[in-house]
Amino acid sequence: MQALAFIDLETSGSTPTQDRITEVGIITLDAGRLQSWSSLVNPQTSIPPFIENLTGITNEMVADAPLFEDLIPEILDRLMGRIFVAHNARFDYGFIKQSLKRAGIDFRATTLCTVKLSRKLFPEERKHNLDSLVQRHGLVAQTRHRALADADLIAQFWLKLTDSFAPEVLERVVTELTARPSLPTHLGIDLLDELPEKPGVYLFYGENDLPLYVGKSKNIRERVLSHFSADVRSARELSLSQQIRRVDWIETGGEVGALLREAALVKQLQPTLNRQLRLNRGVCSLVLGGAHEDPQAVVRSAQELDPGRQDTLYGLFESGAEAQRTLRSIAEAEGLCLRLLGLERGRSEGPCFAHQLKRCRGACVGDESREMHHLRLTLALSRLKIRSWPFEGPATLKEGDEVLVVDRWVYLGSARSEGEVMDLLESGRPQFDKDSYRILSKVVGRMTPLTGSLDWPLGPLRGAVESL
Ligand SMILES: [Zn+2]
Repeated sequence: MQALAFIDLETSGSTPTQDRITEVGIITLDAGRLQSWSSLVNPQTSIPPFIENLTGITNEMVADAPLFEDLIPEILDRLMGRIFVAHNARFDYGFIKQSLKRAGIDFRATTLCTVKLSRKLFPEERKHNLDSLVQRHGLVAQTRHRALADADLIAQFWLKLTDSFAPEVLERVVTELTARPSLPTHLGIDLLDELPEKPGVYLFYGENDLPLYVGKSKNIRERVLSHFSADVRSARELSLSQQIRRVDWIETGGEVGALLREAALVKQLQPTLNRQLRLNRGVCSLVLGGAHEDPQAVVRSAQELDPGRQDTLYGLFESGAEAQRTLRSIAEAEGLCLRLLGLERGRSEGPCFAHQLKRCRGACVGDESREMHHLRLTLALSRLKIRSWPFEGPATLKEGDEVLVVDRWVYLGSARSEGEVMDLLESGRPQFDKDSYRILSKVVGRMTPLTGSLDWPLGPLRGAVESL
């Protein structure tokens, strides 16, 4: 087995680009020989009180500790040539990589995540956090949430595994978990470290500035890599692998935000390899009139509609012809009168053509009342009904660290501060769009009306807002 370095860090927060390391603990394992090392680190920033409480590392304790850059030789000496083993390895690896980058060092290591290792070897267990591992495997905990103590727990976990699994089994699992996913030749290897394991949209670009493909996922990294894995080899994926030159992404607070941004980007940018969501030339709907109006239902196009305000809209169609086709097939199936629906040209009195074939129940000749015809029409259309907007004004949907701002089924954008919400409300209203409606109508129950003051538990503004 290759040499291992079990590592744990304490930090001033959770974002490698913003927060700093406050303590490093590393235990190396070479041919059965364990060696421990740790140091507090002066983060050159203040540690928030709740993190002081969690780790017990106070601002006072790190005030005289060495700076990270002074510890670089010690750290690299322990990490180089060993597998980087950590619990939630992306976190610790991200912090080490970022901290070394600040010092001008491009660090890369093979990582092994003990959460994934535990999941793989004990698939029947639900929890794989460090406390669960301690309990399940009888590990001996020193001071939890201190770097060396936690690194020691991971090392103990590893030693338990070497006791209970045959070396070749462990070797195989480690090889599988540390294998670098394959990437198309034109993409830089750094992409593997950069892709976030967060929800959002991703964009694949070829030689020019227009994307080849836009996709969305709960986990950007996993989904992007799955496009290039050996077992997905459709003609489209192959073509993508050959053309791709760079990958870009936008993190979102959750899945709804990702779906909405994907729909907007696909429409705006028309990527060549996206098949769905591409055609959205227009929106038409059926408007149901009163029982004594002639005709009882009419096709209306987007400009004449106010989806959300009107509560007599049925179906969203790409063209008037499609709307008419749908109305006609419903009418034929239900024995409704095509003439009363404005679908039969010519005579405006007497029996319609379908009635002569006994396919219309005769609303045209008074065999059925107009009210009954209208009622049956309403019922037949009910499954297509567009929901009316249940709020007085705009509403918000909170997802992760952002809020989606929506008004009458139109997605205005996402915001991470109250000011950004205001900007969105003032920036004008995009056109009604049926993909957004479909996404939003499913989650309207989770929305809250946007009233005078916003409940704003979102924390500080993080990153640029991608408002489309
Ligand atoms: Zn008729």
